[in-house]
Amino acid sequence: MEGQNTDTSSFQRKLLLWYKQHHRKLPWRKDRNPYTIWVSEVMLQQTTVQAVLPYYSEWIKTFPDIQSLSQAPLRRILKAWQGLGYYQRAKNLHKASKIIVDKFNGRLPQEYKELNKLPGFGPYITAAVLSLTFDKPFPVVDANVRRIIMRLKGVRGEADPKNDKVLLDFLAPYFPQKRTGVFNQAMMELGALVCRPKNPYCLLCPLSDYCQAYKDGKQEVIPLPKKRNYRKIEAVVAIIRKNGRFLIQKRPSRGLLADLWEFPGGKTKPGETLEEALHREIKEELHAEIQSEKLLIRVQHSYTQFQVSLYAYECCLKKAPHMNKSHHRWVTLQGMRLYPFPSGSAKIIRFLQQRIEGKK
Ligand code: SF4
Repeated sequence: MEGQNTDTSSFQRKLLLWYKQHHRKLPWRKDRNPYTIWVSEVMLQQTTVQAVLPYYSEWIKTFPDIQSLSQAPLRRILKAWQGLGYYQRAKNLHKASKIIVDKFNGRLPQEYKELNKLPGFGPYITAAVLSLTFDKPFPVVDANVRRIIMRLKGVRGEADPKNDKVLLDFLAPYFPQKRTGVFNQAMMELGALVCRPKNPYCLLCPLSDYCQAYKDGKQEVIPLPKKRNYRKIEAVVAIIRKNGRFLIQKRPSRGLLADLWEFPGGKTKPGETLEEALHREIKEELHAEIQSEKLLIRVQHSYTQFQVSLYAYECCLKKAPHMNKSHHRWVTLQGMRLYPFPSGSAKIIRFLQQRIEGKK
């Protein structure tokens, strides 16, 4: 490749020496347990190490192996994931664990084709698990590695997984035949600690001799930040209380935040006031009329594509709501710790707990 410094052994030596001296001691790096590496890689998709650490240690305590995960009810799985977002990841872990127990005797298959067929095993997770646990010869391209290679090669534009083939071709001469696990870990760690999205530490970088962006002084503009179409949404929820219990309902099993629980309510429609939306939603969802409502709190939460402002109203109904046994429950605040809620609802629950605790 024209202009590419292809001194492979020096590239690998410098990278691996840097990793040996500087890598973080993370709990999933203690051994090469396929299950714990799989769980950590799934959690780390779209999520930072700092955010993952407490979830990971709780998860391993609650579901220490594939068998215990496969036997757990979905509600417990989602509760353990509450706050990490992208809940489909947790559902896929659960589904895949059942298949691994039923078809593979509880062991993760080591063949790419077999592993890649399991729920949640796209090219990234499959390559990461096979390389980090079994040293199989697959390069791993996560957001950190994608950024490093774009800078090394000097590729302009946004980071887009669709262009990974070009990046993998660039990486190929440097990729080792053996010990691929530690090489992949080193690349990911270098991206997290040195080749950071903003203000990369190029003077400390073991790969600066190989880096086109550094030579051109373009490391701050490669890759370009993603343009986001960030929507703002307003939603209303009803806090309906009876004998110390609150009415909650289960979200549909498809779509956004599927299978999580929430307070009754929904999004406002164009031109509608918050109170009008509240009355309409309660009529539609519970076939009930609101007698009186009082705004308790407004909370905000940002998801990847939108930001929601959630207005919680304490409501009295004119008559008992229409309940569906499988989708509605009267639950105490204490009992809510058994149900998985989206982060916005969890903020309302914390508010209710503080309010009720404060009155005692
Ligand atoms: S020299 Fe700078 S931009 Fe290039 S790989 Fe190293 S940290 Fe990243």
